[in-house]
Amino acid sequence: MKRALIAIVVTFLVVLCSCAKNEYKRADFFAMNTYASFLVDTENENILSEAKAEVQRIEKLLSATYDGSDIQNLSSVSEETFSLLEKAHNVAVTTDGCFDYTLGALVKLWNVNGESPKVPSEDEIERTLETCGYENLSLSEGIIETANSKLQIDLGAVAKGYAGGRICAMLKDKGVENACISLGGNISVIGSSRNNLEKGVHGWNVGITDPYDTSHIIGFVNVSEKTVSVSGSYERFFEENGKKYHHIFDRTTGYPAETDLLCVAVISDDGTLADALSTALFVMGYDKAKNFYEEKAFDFEAVFCKKDGSVYVTDGIFHDFVPEENANVVFPQYE
Ligand code: ADP
Ligand code: MG
Repeated sequence: MKRALIAIVVTFLVVLCSCAKNEYKRADFFAMNTYASFLVDTENENILSEAKAEVQRIEKLLSATYDGSDIQNLSSVSEETFSLLEKAHNVAVTTDGCFDYTLGALVKLWNVNGESPKVPSEDEIERTLETCGYENLSLSEGIIETANSKLQIDLGAVAKGYAGGRICAMLKDKGVENACISLGGNISVIGSSRNNLEKGVHGWNVGITDPYDTSHIIGFVNVSEKTVSVSGSYERFFEENGKKYHHIFDRTTGYPAETDLLCVAVISDDGTLADALSTALFVMGYDKAKNFYEEKAFDFEAVFCKKDGSVYVTDGIFHDFVPEENANVVFPQYE
């Protein structure tokens, strides 16, 4: 049977935040190069501190720029890093390099988040691409071998989702029933928000924000025991000669990926997968991403925001997606 995808037309789009006026313990801080916000249903301040310490530990382990990180010392990585790399490799192979964790040199060349980024020359891009590619790396029995000594790993597209998933698992082990771990565009949740509990509703409402006006959302997904990861072109970019250059790259061109998508939210039980796939689907563009979803190589759901203003929701999450009241919604339309 053909998959049912629901088209929702809205005036503006994009994704983000979780909501809840609440009495859960809260910590807001900067980590993993983004704003972190943790809401944890606990009386024990130590648990919140331990969650913060965990994100800092993971940041040090996986950072491409921190000197002591595993990523800077590939000859002796921990078991934890190795198994994350294996997972990243599997997604790279399955998405045909749309997600590729070996684009470190390209990411550094563009330096989109740096002080004064500029568009590199064609020549620089070409030379840099020669040092990239998951095919140049083999992972076997804890040993990492690279065919190219200049190859640089960058786990920027997967580390925050991984951290969110890890922290939720750690909190559950400590008996926490309800929590929301937000790391930039990645939100991992367990149990329910205080607001929802008071209304007798299960889960957290993770809002999908409007890219043109971040004070608005286009709707939210009601989820629990999941990670919602968003990749989009509107958050991290620079402008040169009136053109915007964002931070998610297409390795076939060496330039920021240009497709019909503005952003993608991926919803999965697995934080690592949600994060990696949101990047991959964004690079694919809508048609390819839709086919990829239908092939069911991985278990996930997604919300696609297209540049033409339409929003597509995969049918596994449709019933848990609540469009914003004021959004110009036209649905359902089954394809
Ligand atoms: P964000 O980090 O803003 O949440 P993503 O999860 O999509 O967004 O990750 C983007 C980051 O991943 C970039 O800043 C860069 O470090 C790295 N990256 C860029 N393009 C790719 C790609 N095609 N595959 C894997 N990693 C990428
Ligand atoms: Mg990602």
